Amino acid sequence: MTEPQDFDVIVIGAGISGLYQLYRLRELGLKVRVLEAGTGVGGTWYWNRYPGARFDSESWSYGYSFSKELLDEWDWTEHFSPQPETLRYLNFVADKFDLRRDIQFRSRVKAAHYDEKRRGWDIALENGDRFHSRFMVTAIGPLSAPTMPRIEGIPSFKGRSFHTGTWPHEEVKFEGKRVAVIGTGATGVQTIQEVAKTAGTLTIFQRTPNWCAPLHNAKIGKEEMAKIRADYPAIFKRCQETFSCFVHTPDPRGVFEVSDVEREAFFEKLYAEPGFGIWQGNFKDILTDRKANALISDFVARKIRQRVKDQAVAEKLIPKNHGFGTRRVPLETKYYEVYNQPNVKLVDINETPIERITEKGIKTSDREYEFDIIIYATGFDAITGSFDRIDIQGEGGLKLKTRWKEGPQTYLGVMVESFPNMMMLMGPHTALGNIPRSIEYNVEWVTGLIRHARDHQVSRIAPTPDGVKSWTDHVKALGVGLLSNEIDSWMTGINRNVEGKTTRIIARYSGSAPAYRERCDAVAADGYKELALA
Ligand code: NAP
Repeated sequence: MTEPQDFDVIVIGAGISGLYQLYRLRELGLKVRVLEAGTGVGGTWYWNRYPGARFDSESWSYGYSFSKELLDEWDWTEHFSPQPETLRYLNFVADKFDLRRDIQFRSRVKAAHYDEKRRGWDIALENGDRFHSRFMVTAIGPLSAPTMPRIEGIPSFKGRSFHTGTWPHEEVKFEGKRVAVIGTGATGVQTIQEVAKTAGTLTIFQRTPNWCAPLHNAKIGKEEMAKIRADYPAIFKRCQETFSCFVHTPDPRGVFEVSDVEREAFFEKLYAEPGFGIWQGNFKDILTDRKANALISDFVARKIRQRVKDQAVAEKLIPKNHGFGTRRVPLETKYYEVYNQPNVKLVDINETPIERITEKGIKTSDREYEFDIIIYATGFDAITGSFDRIDIQGEGGLKLKTRWKEGPQTYLGVMVESFPNMMMLMGPHTALGNIPRSIEYNVEWVTGLIRHARDHQVSRIAPTPDGVKSWTDHVKALGVGLLSNEIDSWMTGINRNVEGKTTRIIARYSGSAPAYRERCDAVAADGYKELALA
């Protein structure tokens, strides 16, 4: 066995959060190593190369805001950037700030154990390489552990098959091919609308339809980019002020405070506008009041009926078990029109369940379908899944998985009791929203804490049991009354393809981002007295 290498901080993951964390920790003069499983930077945007993958947040609100130089040098070419452009952007960032020299690629972390005597982490890669570090920062993403469906016979298929979250680097061609897609979440919707353009036939296996809304993407020309650049201070200021760091924020009016005509006109306006406005900028009560929610759901259902010619198919595409916006709204570009194409078929697997994958394709209860390609757009073991895939052990050998058996318990979504010196970026119980905005704050807060430790000779940072209880209780209380918490989705911790993920949990902080920052800022301003520092 090789000798462990020593670092002040090990960061796991070179996605948006890991890259920025490295940049900030380097400024502190610390010895940092980023361990990344992939062969390149980018995290989500490195792995999710599936056809049609792109931002659902406005590109110009999604990039890093910390460097004026970077903002000056990077031009976005579309309002909702496609994945290849985003990956180019993150590579550009890595090059610009010379980040690669501290990133070790092809390095999947297998285990991380806290060593009480050394007050540090002992981290092991799958290949056996080991590292010692005082601090460990997890930058492993809330949606990074892809899950295959639990269907018999998957390995027996003789054609090609892919999970969207581990898409190959080389181009996959669909021309003339018989293609199947399983899954109709945000990923499935983007995949379907792109593959439908070229596939010979496309068959979609749908279990639960989602409420989708138009993306209204458009190109950004040089002049418009110059205008956006001049607006950056105002754009990022707005993102700081809104509920979830998007450029959209709830309308202060309730659904019933306006006339029927005004309401319909507002819904129409939102449906015609780009991005998440219809979800994040709608009347303030659509996500908490069942009757309010029924009105927007009815509006979107009418749109689906108008856009899909075959009304029997339209009915199948309209969700019946949840209201609009109570699951993550997939944004689409002519998604519903795909179902008007003669080469596209929708299979409702509630009516005819998938029995198994065969050598030739997919066998449902009523027939066998033959395919050349099967695409699994079946999602992720979200939020806690990327933690579960690493053997993380804290004090006394306590496994993180055991600590979180009944759902995550955290301090500010950043630290966990009995896991000293471990900080999480985009962990459970943090404000997600427009993710890079939340990441920048999260990273800066963690950097401040590590700076404090460096300046005050602190070698052990841990949350107190009271601190964890109070934050966890607060997060749970914030979740009360949200319709989304009454629905099965990755946001409530449900994934039936994973053992033990069948009970809903409160995994996400659902308060406002400004309130989250205010709380965290107060802890820092008070010299981190709420934490146990030694
Ligand atoms: P997802 O929302 O969890 O969707 C997974 C899909 O697979 C669902 O339709 C699910 O059906 C289906 N499925 C799972 N297991 C199945 C099985 N055994 N048999 C049949 N169907 C099965 O995952 P996702 O679409 O990858 O999206 C996850 C999240 O990633 C999104 O909500 C979003 O936050 C993020 N994302 C972002 C972007 C973007 O910003 N542009 C794009 C894509 C994704 P059920 O619903 O019935 O379980």
